Amino acid sequence: MADNERRDFLKKAGAVTAAAVGSGLVFGCSQEKKGEAPAVVTKKTYEWKMVTTWPPHFPVLGEGADKLAEMITTMSDGQLKVQVYGGGELVPPLEVFDAVSQGTAEMGHGAAYYWAGKAPAAQFFAAVPFGMNAQQMNAWIYTGGGMELWEEVYAPFNLKPMPAGNTGVQMGGWFNREIKSIADFQGLKMRIPGLGGKVLAKAGGTAILSAGGEIYTNLERGVIDATEWVGPYNDYKMGFYKVAKYYYYPGWHEPGTVLETFVNKQAFEALPKNLQDIVTTAAMACNLWMLCESETKNNFYLQKMIKEEGVQLRKFPDDVIKQLRVYSKEVLDEVAASDPMSKKVYDHFLKYQADAQQWAKISELAYASLPD
Ligand code: CA
Repeated sequence: MADNERRDFLKKAGAVTAAAVGSGLVFGCSQEKKGEAPAVVTKKTYEWKMVTTWPPHFPVLGEGADKLAEMITTMSDGQLKVQVYGGGELVPPLEVFDAVSQGTAEMGHGAAYYWAGKAPAAQFFAAVPFGMNAQQMNAWIYTGGGMELWEEVYAPFNLKPMPAGNTGVQMGGWFNREIKSIADFQGLKMRIPGLGGKVLAKAGGTAILSAGGEIYTNLERGVIDATEWVGPYNDYKMGFYKVAKYYYYPGWHEPGTVLETFVNKQAFEALPKNLQDIVTTAAMACNLWMLCESETKNNFYLQKMIKEEGVQLRKFPDDVIKQLRVYSKEVLDEVAASDPMSKKVYDHFLKYQADAQQWAKISELAYASLPD
């Protein structure tokens, strides 16, 4: 390196050091001396564990967690390294919430409806039957006041939540018999979690809880008559088309399911501002990525299953949907009556949905129903 180049390099290194000190980072050496090696910048590094409700590297959902960790690590140039643990690797899938709450891990990845038993209001931040779609959920949470409410719901648990993925409108599920009227739900054993399961129960069915890995076998053996999962791409990976013939749409029970990440409050507050921004920005990017990944792949896999695997695509009859809507309202009213926070969130959700729907009628819905 020529002397003038070296001087220029040292000058720049000094400028970087000064700027970095200004941003509150920690240095091993903050002064350069003429003619000596440039100051070595040693930033304080953080190592976080992210525990997830998904099996390791699970298609789309677990991949979303992997992507989030990778993005934070890369965006921070390794200053905040996040290591992902699939469900059961560090803690069981449904203990993820408690583990991050208590600080066993700094970060978690899952879906808010898993925590209904701890905070019923959490369900409104995952999937609401006949609720809002992905676009509306994102709008509600990011700029419509939803985020503040979600933070309020998680605050007693020492957690800071944020959206980290969205499935888009899900499919109604896989059935081994046709659904022609609401009476066909009588005695139907279906794997359908959360609020959707409660709606099924009102229709005379039985909601069965099965871990992801057991659903296929349960359907094959007739332990269940039906299952919902996510959408064509995810469902194809699960192989349900091999054991159930009828594939129903739309997913009235999960119209825009939000996947979440949450961070231990003290761990988050201990980060410098730039790393905090990296965490929240990476979560936003992953939220968008997952929705796009589903949108890109769903139709391909749907057509593949219809053409190559003989899957019978069916739409729920209007009468069935109308009755499910009535039952859903009853279920949501019951949740809202269960505690004041649920009521507060539900009221806000309903008001936002009504406004969003009014606008959708002259924007998205009007566009979607333009004549060919
Ligand atoms: Ca689902």
